[in-house]
Amino acid sequence: MSVRTRIAPSPTGDPHVGTAYIALFNLCFARSLGGEFILRIEDTDQVRSTRESEEMILSSLKWLGLDWSEGPDVGGAYGPYRQSERMDIYHQHVMELVNKGHAFYCFATPDELDEMRKEQMARGETPKYDGRSLALSSEEISRRLANGEPHVIRMKVPEEGICAFQDMLRGEIEIPWSQVDMQVLLKADGMPTYHLANVVDDHLMAITHVIRGEEWINSAPKHILLYQYFGWDMPQLCHMPLLRNPDKSKLSKRKNPTSITYYRDMGYLPEAVVNYLGRMGWSMPDESEKFTLQEMLTHFDLNKVHLGGPVFDTEKLDWLNGCWIRENLDETAFAERVAEWALNRDHLSRMIPLIKERVEKFTDIAPLLTFMLSGMPSLDEASFAHKKLDIEAVRKILQFSSWRLDVLRHWERDELYRELNQLAQGMELKLKEFLSPLFVAIAGAPSAPPLFDAMAILGPDMVRARLRHALEAAGGVSKKQLKKLEKEYQQLSETREQHPEEQA
Ligand code: GLU
Repeated sequence: MSVRTRIAPSPTGDPHVGTAYIALFNLCFARSLGGEFILRIEDTDQVRSTRESEEMILSSLKWLGLDWSEGPDVGGAYGPYRQSERMDIYHQHVMELVNKGHAFYCFATPDELDEMRKEQMARGETPKYDGRSLALSSEEISRRLANGEPHVIRMKVPEEGICAFQDMLRGEIEIPWSQVDMQVLLKADGMPTYHLANVVDDHLMAITHVIRGEEWINSAPKHILLYQYFGWDMPQLCHMPLLRNPDKSKLSKRKNPTSITYYRDMGYLPEAVVNYLGRMGWSMPDESEKFTLQEMLTHFDLNKVHLGGPVFDTEKLDWLNGCWIRENLDETAFAERVAEWALNRDHLSRMIPLIKERVEKFTDIAPLLTFMLSGMPSLDEASFAHKKLDIEAVRKILQFSSWRLDVLRHWERDELYRELNQLAQGMELKLKEFLSPLFVAIAGAPSAPPLFDAMAILGPDMVRARLRHALEAAGGVSKKQLKKLEKEYQQLSETREQHPEEQA
């Protein structure tokens, strides 16, 4: 049987470097064995999934040169490759499980389940679905379904014993069934959950090896059980170590830029990013640090992946990127890459409206756009000097803005304006004062071209990185201060939730 692997991103945000890392290892594993690597979009979370995010994921992976042979954009024999287009398939399969007695209807309301969990916690137990709907008679189920009562479908799970399975990197893993919840397979809105859709699709798309991040280990027992219930062969499982921040915590956008588009916009070469990701837990037989995707493919051996959490350190990436630029780009290629990066007509056209009013001659352009084409501005405490804001107030504005922007759903000019304006009001500051440290953080000076438009073009990771950098330059926030600020920010957000209409 030929090897088939997949990457199955959920299009719910920016294209994450973790997705590229897992895609790279899936691609190398499949292709080094003459197999296929495919891409499936897992967009069953209808509230959070967007086409825009899907497009960014696809274009970022393509930018890195991690191509798939089947997917929503290229088609293939096992399509459709977007889960939202496969609803009938999931319904048919969940009904098969109900009919075989492996899954059941559950009519418990969210309030009832909350109550159940509270009682369990009060007894010191881990909250878990208690099987209350299992006892319903078939007459009662039919009656309630005929009445149109809201319901979900859950899978049955053994109460006792241990689920033991093999992981390609970790050997045998054991998880007691008592820790596994009776997972919802079909939600009240008729949408499948990740677990159902993922297993059904991996089987129907003939996936032979599931290589994914270690955060999915605890889901494995549910998946194994579903394969058994359907009577299907299980693909082999491999859980890759998670990428970490230099402080060893899980790589997160709050501490490090995580979006592939950030690395593209900062001016990293895709070859260098792929090379760096290839070194996350893996190394070439001769330990060479610089290698191409083709070289990685030639020497690839999944068994050589180390489980110690690989650290994604942008300083090391800088060094490697520098080697790639100096050693692999002649002057023509250098010029072409720089044009592709930002000095091209499309990108300039987006930036021109920011400065057009202020230009008298073209030589004015470069100084006005420096901050749009640079990484972190050089700043110190003095950069934030302001008549009304002391340095503590500056830090608070930077920290609160950073928290507010972390949860922003649509990174657009108007939304940025609305959120930050609301935050300024909540902090009882005039917008002009509030924005002053943000100008410094983002543009390096207290006044600059239109800030919200510039932020929209710079993108979330670049803005967040500059806010973090500015906060450090403004003296940083100690753990103790952070706790205090968190509390204050929390209160501010609560007031906002209580009176949303006043601040809309
Ligand atoms: N949609 C899941 C994700 O976003 C896929 C996990 C898996 O590979 O099974 O990570």
